[in-house]
Amino acid sequence: MKDIIINCKECGARIPPELIKKLMNNESIYCERCGIENLPIDFNLQDLKEHLKSKTLNNYKEILKTSGNRFFTMMKSKINEIKEDIELKLKKID
Ligand SMILES: [Zn+2]
Repeated sequence: MKDIIINCKECGARIPPELIKKLMNNESIYCERCGIENLPIDFNLQDLKEHLKSKTLNNYKEILKTSGNRFFTMMKSKINEIKEDIELKLKKID
């Protein structure tokens, strides 16, 4: 997945990630090269947010891929425990 790239509206210099974060928090930023003010409305921030969301989702998928099996095994044994507990209680009612 490609990283977000935003360029200064005036000189075209690449905006560093920490400034992009500011833009997404609705703050205006100043270009490090030419010093002009770049406003959040100058960019399509909705697109950025979508991009970030899918990136976050992919991160979760990665985490699940690497630790998922262990997690699901844990959950499965937990669910079985609960199931057995419920079945025991049901038997008592009978
Ligand atoms: Zn600039």
